[in-house]
Amino acid sequence: MKNFVLARGNMDRDEVTRNDPEALGLARKSEQARYILVEGQSVAVNRSKQNELLKLTAQEAREWNSREAVYLGRIENVPYFACDISDMLPDTDVKPAGTPVMRPVKLWAHEWSGNDSILAVTAVAIHNWIRSSRYCSNCGEPLAIHPSGWQAYCENNHLHFPRTDPAVIMAVRDNEDRLLLARNPQWYGNMYSVLAGFVEAGETAESAVVRESFEETRVNVNKVEYFGSQPWPFPRSLMLAFNAWTSSTDDDIMIDGNEMSDAQFFSRDELKKALRHGKLTLPSPSSVARALIEDWLGQTVEEVMEG
Ligand SMILES: [Zn+2]
Repeated sequence: MKNFVLARGNMDRDEVTRNDPEALGLARKSEQARYILVEGQSVAVNRSKQNELLKLTAQEAREWNSREAVYLGRIENVPYFACDISDMLPDTDVKPAGTPVMRPVKLWAHEWSGNDSILAVTAVAIHNWIRSSRYCSNCGEPLAIHPSGWQAYCENNHLHFPRTDPAVIMAVRDNEDRLLLARNPQWYGNMYSVLAGFVEAGETAESAVVRESFEETRVNVNKVEYFGSQPWPFPRSLMLAFNAWTSSTDDDIMIDGNEMSDAQFFSRDELKKALRHGKLTLPSPSSVARALIEDWLGQTVEEVMEG
């Protein structure tokens, strides 16, 4: 298993407690229970130690809507819950004293322990699903959420479970082992990344790698190898990472200008030079994209910058 930032940590998802209302009620009120706070794609961190999640007791969490807290699972026998406080925070720039310090998971997870990462990523994923699960997609009636948070049902007993969208992300290499990086005009700064896209209905992940590479850059992929996966619940993807190989050359690359504003093959030396001179930046250290690029590079970006 690859050591992806959001795939570290060791949590027992504890289906037994999840599906037993009595055990769940006891866990919820227990002294050991800890509650973390979620707002959109962010979680609350410790005010004085921001590389740790804020973990409240049941008592402390009461003011944050613990009625709707979702059971995440157990770590070292501590039951963890997550409260969505998105509707409870003041919508102003100046926050009143006592407002939790929130940090976006995809930008901060690499600063946290593996266990804090898995709590944060699970909490954001499940609350994203709950927020978007208002009505039954079969009959249109309102949905009620099961006490554990992991099922929704309507009055006609149509059951719904948390959804995850599979997406592929691929490090495409040419015959000289150069890496294909592209730039989306909507990305901040001058960020470049590997290609990625969603798996379509009825499609395999491997076919999606080939199709997306061709659609985005006109590069023909002829070999695909699975690399690893990590959740990316922003809002609800599972990233399936691949290494891929092509015989296409610089001259074959064509971009449509909408989805991509540039795409080119980089040698390792070219990429290191561009990074050191600040000519381009790479995705967040928490992302699979970053892990794929560093795997190809043979060193981390930090090591490149130290030089
Ligand atoms: Zn229904």
